[in-house]
Amino acid sequence: MRLKGIVSRFLFGSVCLSCGCGEKPLDPWLCENCRELLLKERNGNAVSENAFSLYNMGPVSRALIHGLKYSSMPGLAAYLVKSAGDTLKNFKEWLSLEGNVFFVPVPIHPSRFRERGYNQTEKVALALAAYCNGKVWKALGRRSFSVSQTKLSKSERVLNVAGAFVLKKRMNVKKEDCVVIVDDVFTTGATTGACAYALKRNGYHNIKICSLLYEKPISAELDFVADKQEDWLL
Ligand SMILES: [Zn+2]
Repeated sequence: MRLKGIVSRFLFGSVCLSCGCGEKPLDPWLCENCRELLLKERNGNAVSENAFSLYNMGPVSRALIHGLKYSSMPGLAAYLVKSAGDTLKNFKEWLSLEGNVFFVPVPIHPSRFRERGYNQTEKVALALAAYCNGKVWKALGRRSFSVSQTKLSKSERVLNVAGAFVLKKRMNVKKEDCVVIVDDVFTTGATTGACAYALKRNGYHNIKICSLLYEKPISAELDFVADKQEDWLL
């Protein structure tokens, strides 16, 4: 085995993160077939007027997001961003930047942070900022809920989620600067919408959203639990 292969297996593991095969050389987490499938899962367009996702949820991107969130593999964030290729170029054009751009990661629950050791959306924000010559701004904090979201009615959840984030750290960001809220998965936009609300309340008005993956909400009934399900259920 060539030295490169030995180092890669030591750093990234020896089986494909998506299909589990171990025969072919990995790149560095995926076999050739899954790498090709991942590139087909890229999404070249905005998912709504103010939101852009780099990939549509598919079997390979789902496996990588799982690794990013639950298997201590923070490097997958930069891998996914970099692998987006032309989609990344589309994203930059879509931002139509004229001035500064700041990437604001969606904060995760402190208990998740302790468990995971990092916030995956910060890793995504760092990779996007590097590509767009922007900066990461950890602007938001998460309010803790006194009552579990599942015990509330839908209208109560709307109110609760809307006030879930607060501006906790100011930076030298002008009100007209472009601020991009960064999340790992975008479904209904309830989470990122609540983040946007916290920023708008503080006068920032040029707000956009970028996520790694877009996943269609399962149903309107499940809209809030679909977004960051595990966080809201704490
Ligand atoms: Zn594979």
